[in-house]
Amino acid sequence: MNKQGNIKQSDTDQTVSDPLQIAKIGHGLTMDGDISQYYAKENVNPLSHAFSGKIAVHPGLGGHYVPDEDVAKSMDELSHQERSGKSVAYIHVPFCETHCLYCGFYNKPYSKNYSAHYTDTLIKEMELWEGRNIYTSSPIHAVYMGGGTPTALEASDLERILHAVRKHLFLANDCEITVEGRLHNFNEAKIEACLKGGANRFSLGVQTFDTEIRKRMGRVADQETVCRQLQLLQSYDQAAIILDLIYGFPNQTMEKWLNDIKIAQSLNLDGVDCYQLNVYGSTPLGKAIEEGKIEPAADIPKQSSMFEASIHAMQSEFYRRLSMSHWARTSRERNLYNLYTKGVSSGLAFGPGAGGALHNHFSINQPNLEKWTELVDNGIKPVMKLQKLSVNNILYKFIAESMEQGHLDLKRIQNDFNIDLSAIYKPIITQWERACLVELRDSKMVLTLPGQFWQVNLSQLLLHKLKCHLEV
Ligand code: SF4
Repeated sequence: MNKQGNIKQSDTDQTVSDPLQIAKIGHGLTMDGDISQYYAKENVNPLSHAFSGKIAVHPGLGGHYVPDEDVAKSMDELSHQERSGKSVAYIHVPFCETHCLYCGFYNKPYSKNYSAHYTDTLIKEMELWEGRNIYTSSPIHAVYMGGGTPTALEASDLERILHAVRKHLFLANDCEITVEGRLHNFNEAKIEACLKGGANRFSLGVQTFDTEIRKRMGRVADQETVCRQLQLLQSYDQAAIILDLIYGFPNQTMEKWLNDIKIAQSLNLDGVDCYQLNVYGSTPLGKAIEEGKIEPAADIPKQSSMFEASIHAMQSEFYRRLSMSHWARTSRERNLYNLYTKGVSSGLAFGPGAGGALHNHFSINQPNLEKWTELVDNGIKPVMKLQKLSVNNILYKFIAESMEQGHLDLKRIQNDFNIDLSAIYKPIITQWERACLVELRDSKMVLTLPGQFWQVNLSQLLLHKLKCHLEV
């Protein structure tokens, strides 16, 4: 799947793809105050050439790791503290039925034998903190069951998990409950189990409707089957249905990309997400390209024109833009989890490898299925690493969240955080204006279309500059 947010180590721009195309320019940043390292290229096409490559990682959180021997005690203390503000819960299902060639999130091959045992353990993990403040003190606004492929699980287990979520966690009345998955094997029994369990949003990784590209990338179903399955899901009319599309696959022409968007739009779904393909060197696709067995994926200029084309195509059909990659057609699609998880929300985490955010700490569960099971069976919250975040983390996350929405309100930040970002960022913003990546509207820095394509770079650079200012 495309990973959203998180906590779920998600999503669109976790790029990396040396030696394929993406330079890791973020790693070359220094703390010596050299302002020119933040500058974009001028007198080039800003959409395709503003930087020499996409920055490989989301802006870091800063802070330090809690020593391993103190993790259990710290987690126990955190679980007794009251939670407030927007909150999410993430459930990680580590299994996939097949390994899609491009995927960097493949973890464990699915076998029916895993389903019930995994579900039992997951529910036990939820029960570990039963009645504690961290569960009961305020509502959770979005639950996301991701992976992996949650829809690979057996119908009865999908229903059991969702029931447990509703039983053990304090959900807001309008809580968004998403089940991520793929259409392959998502049969009527499973769909009905999810709906009975309370799922009100399905996020489906279609990626492309082009049967030939699908097969080459290791997807199982052909275009007709995918469309038929989507129509079946829609016929229940009980949940928002969102699908992910990806641009930049090997052999994916602009015509094929626009056709993917057209088909998605013709299905009248609630939302469509358009992601850029990130080719990780460690994936089967990365290796196959390196070995010359598969043609290269789209380079940055081609990706940028596909990005631009997707914006025009979605806008021309009056889709509402929710963030850089997310588009809503109906008001059923709110995209709450993805929005909150990139911002300053709290996050409860369950399942092997799941990440959570509580009281300025970031935790990662033990990712190994067997070890995770053993810890839970012994009554231990299975956290492997705990990071105490920088005191400035809320400000950093606020900036990252705003940039994901395509703008930054400098005056609001000054009011809310008592810091004059206009002064700190002045030379950078002035240069980016010259490079056609941003515009200043009153106190707001707004990303232009090229700026939106380079949003992760711009965010990373802004955060790096601020970290140098505040922490060096
Ligand atoms: S189904 Fe495919 S894309 Fe989704 S997590 Fe598994 S391997 Fe990755």
